[in-house]
Amino acid sequence: MLKKFLPNEHVKTIFDIHPALLKKKGINGIITDLDNTLVAWDVKDATPEVIQWFEQMKEQDIKVTIISNNKQERVKIFSEPLDTPFVFSARKPLSQAFKSAAKEMRLKKDEIVVIGDQLLTDVLGGNFAGFHTILVVPIVQTDGKITRINRKIERRILSYMNKKGKISWEE
Ligand SMILES: [Mg+2]
Repeated sequence: MLKKFLPNEHVKTIFDIHPALLKKKGINGIITDLDNTLVAWDVKDATPEVIQWFEQMKEQDIKVTIISNNKQERVKIFSEPLDTPFVFSARKPLSQAFKSAAKEMRLKKDEIVVIGDQLLTDVLGGNFAGFHTILVVPIVQTDGKITRINRKIERRILSYMNKKGKISWEE
């Protein structure tokens, strides 16, 4: 069971995820979380760096879909200027949003990576749905209430896995 919480890869930020490298691995699509993955949860719009990251993906023909458990307004205001498809109220870790995102992109599971900052929603959901998962370090440590509870559980899982040598995690 714990295996399902384990990401296939972990990096510091999305900027460690390079389009050319993804392409080499046969990746043609990204399903990414929004809050604390692309920008801090309380930042409304994409930063210039994030805009550039999306452009680089587009140049390499890598499709990106944002899926977020957050509300419509938040996800829409962020995603529309990027001209990228999005799913709000995604109810991660449930599989449905991941699967419909893949279908919309017309890509197979093994052509897609799932990126996110939370084990209990992004990684667990991505793993359950059968995708390659990449964990990033949350951009800021502050969070909404539900996320705070998730973080406590997450911390326990990460330290357990650290001990088992399954993952090396730096704070
Ligand atoms: Mg997040």
